[in-house]
Amino acid sequence: MKITEHLQAAKDKTLFSFEILPPLKGQNINSIYESIDPLMEFNPPFIDVTYHREEYVYSEKENGLLEKKIVRKRPGTVGICAAIQSKYGVDAVPHILCGGFSKEDTENFLIDLDFLGIKNVMALRGDAVKSETYFKPEKNGNCFAKDLVDQIYDLNAGKYLDEVIEKGHNTDFCVGVAGYPEKHMEAPSIDKDIQRLKEKIEAGAEYVVTQMFFENDRYFDFVEKCRESGIDVPIIPGLKPIATKKQLSVIPHRFHVDMPDCLIREVEKCKDNAAVRQVGIEWCIQQSKELIAGGVPVLHYYSMGKSTNIQKIATAIF
Ligand SMILES: Cc1cc2nc3c(=O)[nH]c(=O)nc-3n(C[C@H](O)[C@H](O)[C@H](O)COP(=O)(O)OP(=O)(O)OC[C@H]3O[C@@H](n4cnc5c(N)ncnc54)[C@H](O)[C@@H]3O)c2cc1C
Repeated sequence: MKITEHLQAAKDKTLFSFEILPPLKGQNINSIYESIDPLMEFNPPFIDVTYHREEYVYSEKENGLLEKKIVRKRPGTVGICAAIQSKYGVDAVPHILCGGFSKEDTENFLIDLDFLGIKNVMALRGDAVKSETYFKPEKNGNCFAKDLVDQIYDLNAGKYLDEVIEKGHNTDFCVGVAGYPEKHMEAPSIDKDIQRLKEKIEAGAEYVVTQMFFENDRYFDFVEKCRESGIDVPIIPGLKPIATKKQLSVIPHRFHVDMPDCLIREVEKCKDNAAVRQVGIEWCIQQSKELIAGGVPVLHYYSMGKSTNIQKIATAIF
């Protein structure tokens, strides 16, 4: 089923869903099953699987010159999605990026997804590769998520890149896009960022999943601004329970989100990461309760491959 159909079927009930990462290259899929199994009792209608583009790694050769190697540390997004759909009968939502994909690669990727019976995709631009400051699209690739959404809806209309294909098979993807309650780091203002988000919706995207946030007011204000600007699709909040002290610096740096002082103080008081995990769980339960009271369609948790804390939160909430 499409995400939009799941949301309609749920009526006003808040659904539970989560995001997983493919395992590091060299591991097997059992680690994925081990993180999904404990969460199945909460009936997720869909599970997101992130996409990880290539990275450039530089190693020094004997002559002192640097050798550039291209590595993909977490391949397997499509395989994991197919495995989830067949093992659990749950809709898998692969993330698909502009970065690292030519339009041809994108089309072929989408054809694979269609043949596998995958109905939903999350369309994203992706970040710059680690060795570069700014995002660079692939030669003949999509520059922004909106362009990727356009390409997906072209395929839904049976329009392929190869103009020789006249009446191509119409795919039927439901497309989600990313939204940023605290603004995307490159956007000059929140209003401009919301205008860009609106362009993705006008291109056909049917729902939004937000970046993580730690104060619900950020989400509620964002939703209000989106509604004022005419965005009327479901806006699904993304939640991440804090699990380590280090995340106090890593999360703001990597995701460009703020943390409230009282959460920071509680984490700083902790003697070890077991205590931090407990603080993170309690904070996230509180956030989840308020969001449900605010009528959100889904609570979407960033599991980062570790389900124990998500399981505890879901037990308290669902
Ligand atoms: C829910 C969620 C899931 C994610 N999953 C992944 C994943 O699986 N893999 C991964 O690598 N990354 C993932 N990301 C991170 C994402 O790829 C980055 O945040 C990326 O920097 C932006 O992606 P986007 O799709 O929001 O880009 P866009 O919507 O294209 O926006 C990027 C920036 O460009 C601006 N912009 C948009 N259109 C234009 C235009 N026409 N002209 C000028 N500026 C414009 C926007 O305001 C914004 O600042 C995820 C993020 C979220 C919130």
